[in-house]
Amino acid sequence: MTATVERHEFQAEVQQVLELLVHSLYSHKDIFLRELISNASDALDKFRFAGLTDPKLRTDEELHIRITRDTEERTLAVSDNGIGMNRAELIENLGTIAHSGSTHFLRALQKSKDEQGSLDLIGQFGVGFYSSFMVADKVTVLSRRAGEEKAYKWESTGTGEYTVEESERTGNGTTVMLHLRPVDEEDGLQDYAAEWVIKGIVKHHSDFVAHPIKMEVEREETPRDEEGKPREGAAPEKVVTDETLNSMQAIWTRAKEDVTEEEYQEFYKHITHDWSNPLSHLSIRMEGAVEARALLYIPSQAPIDLYHHEISYRGLQLFIKRVFIMDECKDLMPPHLRFIKGVVDSDDLSLNVSREILQQDRKIGAIRKFLVKKVMEELARLQKHETKTYRDFWKHFGPAMKEGFLSMDQKHEPLLDLLLCHSTRNAEEMTALADYVVRMPDGQDAIYYLTSPTIDAARQSPHLEVFQKKGYEVLLFTDRVDEVWLPNAPAFQEKQWRSVGQGSVDLGTEEEQKEASTALETQTRDFKDLTTLFQELLADDIKEVRPTNRLTSSPACLVGEPLDMSPQMTEILRQMGQDVPKVKRILEVNPAHPILQKLQARFEKDERDPVVREFAELLYGQALLAEGSQPNDPAGFGKKLADVLQRGL
Ligand code: ADP
Repeated sequence: MTATVERHEFQAEVQQVLELLVHSLYSHKDIFLRELISNASDALDKFRFAGLTDPKLRTDEELHIRITRDTEERTLAVSDNGIGMNRAELIENLGTIAHSGSTHFLRALQKSKDEQGSLDLIGQFGVGFYSSFMVADKVTVLSRRAGEEKAYKWESTGTGEYTVEESERTGNGTTVMLHLRPVDEEDGLQDYAAEWVIKGIVKHHSDFVAHPIKMEVEREETPRDEEGKPREGAAPEKVVTDETLNSMQAIWTRAKEDVTEEEYQEFYKHITHDWSNPLSHLSIRMEGAVEARALLYIPSQAPIDLYHHEISYRGLQLFIKRVFIMDECKDLMPPHLRFIKGVVDSDDLSLNVSREILQQDRKIGAIRKFLVKKVMEELARLQKHETKTYRDFWKHFGPAMKEGFLSMDQKHEPLLDLLLCHSTRNAEEMTALADYVVRMPDGQDAIYYLTSPTIDAARQSPHLEVFQKKGYEVLLFTDRVDEVWLPNAPAFQEKQWRSVGQGSVDLGTEEEQKEASTALETQTRDFKDLTTLFQELLADDIKEVRPTNRLTSSPACLVGEPLDMSPQMTEILRQMGQDVPKVKRILEVNPAHPILQKLQARFEKDERDPVVREFAELLYGQALLAEGSQPNDPAGFGKKLADVLQRGL
């Protein structure tokens, strides 16, 4: 009976990735082997872990990876006796992109115009297995899931579709067989059927893999006599021996001095599938009540899915006494440091841990705390000594870091120290809080900030006018998370935070403040009737209209009470599906502005002047636009504006 061959189409994302990989000029094609070995190594770990709880899944056989070459047929195979895949898993794992963020991935891929950008994305996203198609024009996978009888063959030439059929395999595990493309040194295609090429790649990329990577190697040997000495005059013979190509030393157990920078980088790529080098690595040793070692990495780029928590929060790898226990252990890193990658190895945990137990394990809690401290110290070091690198880091990961302010069990001071933000002082470079405080003029007692949807809108905001006039620097924030943490921001060097868009402004010396407030009182009285009229006309959206000394060149702006929710925050909550009551705002008008002066004059002459009434809405709409919001009825607003402009001509 012949098995039926099923044909399947690759998911669109996979097709796009394959297309790019196959035709790319990416010259580091050797990495396909690292990817296949990493997958095999993961499969062995999974099998061993499954055996801890299911005796049927234990074996006396040594867990290993085997590389088989055929120079005539020009094939290369990587096999393992690990967990294997059944039919459904083959289709799921090798026909789609595993991560649930694939739609984001696809979108990002489409946006990234240049090839290098696309490849960086692909590398970052971990397309592991698919990289085989850079060096092979056909790939055959034979796999049998541990504990199951049937084996399946998956095959594809990497063009649109693949086939799956029932097959045979002795023992559980997976064999990935590559039908190699012709050698093309210029294109980065080495002879991957050659022994020395494979040996070199394994040594370079996969030396630390914890399982033996075996391969038959050929040597010429002079035959020996009974005493084991080379027989004189005898012609050398070809001998084939089985060799383990890697040293298998867990990199984090080696003394720091003995590990080269390149080895650290290779290990990072092995565990993350990222193709680019990490920004920094930390080799950590924890001693005392709980002992552990860790090797952590700060990546150089944020993954595209960083802000989709459920996808990007994967955690660290956990080893106990050098034995791999689990991938994606979230309990070792808090969510705001979810981009940190690496391994943790402790002798003090029980080998029988499960995810549920881990969560409550005090020792895990202690390890996490220690790791967080070390990461924060490393970031502080980067900030101090490698300013440019740190700025790049903040650009990628700052918004995630700021989520730390929302968590009660994080210390907020070190996070404030690490914070970088835009400021009115310098358009090019972000500033640290400590530097801002040093620059504060005498008499400034708070940290002034403004939140806005974009940096351009922030810089144009009318709220900044009086601060500019008085020479006060204002910090500008544009990340969504800023709306959430800033209203409850912890004091920094005993300085409280104050939004420039909330409450009244009292700047300058006591005397200046007094003077300003007397002037304002007079203006409030003078403009009383006009502002009351505006307030009536805008009652649906505005709770108060009042003169202000906040503005110098703009006629009006919108502010909130100190405890009011900001419009951006309201919007965020709405998008999250929450029913937020409308927060009415305050329209502040600039009594010194010619528009207000003229309106007041007209109003004094004729309280019913329709132009004055018309201006209530125009001023409100203008204030909304100035902060980056939209008027309620943009078309209506546009029309009114056009009318006024026309009359002005
Ligand atoms: P990644 O390894 O980043 O998840 P891959 O495309 O390399 O992405 O592999 C996809 C999935 O296929 C893996 O997550 C794993 O579940 C499965 N897989 C790949 N190789 C093997 C293997 N040798 N044994 C068992 N499963 C494998």
